[in-house]
Amino acid sequence: MTTKIIDKLCCPFDKNDLALQIISQDIHNNVKEGILTCNQCNRYYPVVSGIPIMNPDEYREFKLEIPMLEKWQEYLSNKSFDNFRITSNPDTGNALPEA
Ligand SMILES: [Zn+2]
Repeated sequence: MTTKIIDKLCCPFDKNDLALQIISQDIHNNVKEGILTCNQCNRYYPVVSGIPIMNPDEYREFKLEIPMLEKWQEYLSNKSFDNFRITSNPDTGNALPEA
C-alpha cells in the first residue's frame, strides 16, 4: 500500500480525511503497518500487511486488535483505544481517572 493511495482514503462513516501514522515500511517505502485515524469520529483503522482494515464496527472485533495495538504501543504514545475509537490523546489528556 503506497502512501499515495492511503492519501486518497477517507473515513467510511463521515468521509473525513484520515491521518496516517506509519509504523513500518518495506524497501520500496510502501506502508506495511500503520494506523489511520479520523479526527471527526475518532475512529482508527489499522494497516496490516499493507491492507487498511476499514470494516464497519460490527464487523470488527476489538479483542483481535488488542495484541496489535500492544505491539504498536511505542508508536501510539499517549493514545488509548476503545470501541475502535481513540479515547484519549496528548491534546485533551487522558480521559480515564487516575487510579
Ligand atoms: Zn470518521
